[in-house]
Amino acid sequence: TVSVALFTADLRLHDNPVLHAAVREADRVVPLFVYDDGVRAAGFDVPNRRAFLADCLADLDAGLRARGGRLVVRSGDVVERVRAVVAETGADRVHLAGGPSRYAVRREAALREALGGRALVVHDPVVTALAPGAVTPAGADHYAVFTPYFRRWSETGVREVVPTPRRVRVPEAVGSEPLLPRAKVTGTSPGLAEGGETAGRKRLRAWLKEGIAGYESGHDDLAGDATSRLSPFLHFGALSAAELVQLARREGSPGADAFVRQLAWRDFHHQVLAARPDAASADYRDRGDRWHRDERELAAWRAGRTGYPLVDAAMRQLAHEGWMHNRGRMLAASFLTKTLYADWRLGARHFLDLLVDGDIANNQLNWQWVAGTGNDTRPNRVLNPVSQGKRLDPRGTYVRRWIPELAGVPDRLIHEPWRLPAPELAATGYPEPVVELGEGRERFERGRGGE
Ligand code: FAD
Repeated sequence: TVSVALFTADLRLHDNPVLHAAVREADRVVPLFVYDDGVRAAGFDVPNRRAFLADCLADLDAGLRARGGRLVVRSGDVVERVRAVVAETGADRVHLAGGPSRYAVRREAALREALGGRALVVHDPVVTALAPGAVTPAGADHYAVFTPYFRRWSETGVREVVPTPRRVRVPEAVGSEPLLPRAKVTGTSPGLAEGGETAGRKRLRAWLKEGIAGYESGHDDLAGDATSRLSPFLHFGALSAAELVQLARREGSPGADAFVRQLAWRDFHHQVLAARPDAASADYRDRGDRWHRDERELAAWRAGRTGYPLVDAAMRQLAHEGWMHNRGRMLAASFLTKTLYADWRLGARHFLDLLVDGDIANNQLNWQWVAGTGNDTRPNRVLNPVSQGKRLDPRGTYVRRWIPELAGVPDRLIHEPWRLPAPELAATGYPEPVVELGEGRERFERGRGGE
């Protein structure tokens, strides 16, 4: 018998229910990945993620080869390619991870139809620790508020980790296209991290040994950079969220508890998106916003030249690494949506163009959360870049790391360089504020429909 394990957002050998089920039931397995035209057409195939994906696939292939198998790669329409592989190999079943997005749901339906009598087996949870819809409040299909969700999430056990296959036997005749090497991907951020399950597990081990214990006190310290940086591996499924929850719970420290809580945020957004797929682009909660649009301001925000050092440092980190600290993301998003008062979709798109961990559930719903159109319980709160700077980066270390032109500015003015004498500011080459905070505040008050 032959089964197909179709990899999507689960590019790993460890704790992979899709691969595990296929290997357990069949003599031979086709571990298949499709460079999907649909994903490209939807605008998700951007250089940073393509490069990280190249690492993930190369690593997956190496891991499968070490177990006697190999990765089979095709490109084109995912449904057609799966159908072709099934026809070539006579496979009886196709295994796949469930996904929360509208695209994933449509793909599942199209595959089911295309496979006719052959079975499509959808596994959930694979992408998240708890499946979307596994817990629901009375009378609703999803939780709109995190705290009660987290309570139920915590009470509900995470599934057992499944064993890693020792051997994978692939039908000999099944052909593969060559893997896209990372070196061939152009236009990536210069400081982009290395991808793949092996790199992810190495980072995970170091995190459990040296990082997680200090997470509770250090997670907001921008300069300290003391978060796990596991998000890209989670995005591609090179690490399993369920396994991470199990490992962190075993640590049992306040840092581990705080880390597990963040993993629950990830599941929270996935369950919102699964129930409300339109929230990827439509306001989750319509506040009647009349957004302000100014191309010059948008360009300054994208380039990290708004004149607000913490916002700009965060945006430059994004451009350089394809990754940004959570506090930076919150601040940059708040500045765009509440001070420039620009439509959150413009910011979310820019993030998706660059973030190596950029995904629909976490990106769009966090943007909505910050913009106040989502499920933040304080939708009209505005983060002030000056007071946030003084709190999160008191010595300006993070700012100076990303904005070298401000290196010589004294600590007390590092978050307000416009207070320097005008010739001194001009000499740094750093811009004046693109908009006054007071004016931003008024725009927001006027635009959000008097709510
Ligand atoms: P850690 O602090 O070590 O947290 C561990 C893990 O928990 C993360 O890897 C992530 O999977 C999860 N997590 C943490 N915070 C959140 C959160 N607020 N929402 C959902 N999951 C969370 N995260 C993404 O993975 N992809 C995105 O596209 C994304 N876009 C964002 C956009 C905005 C405007 C904001 C405010 C946040 C966004 N986040 C996104 C959430 C969060 O900023 C990142 O997950 C986090 O910074 C990743 O760094 P880390 O792995 O070191 O996180």
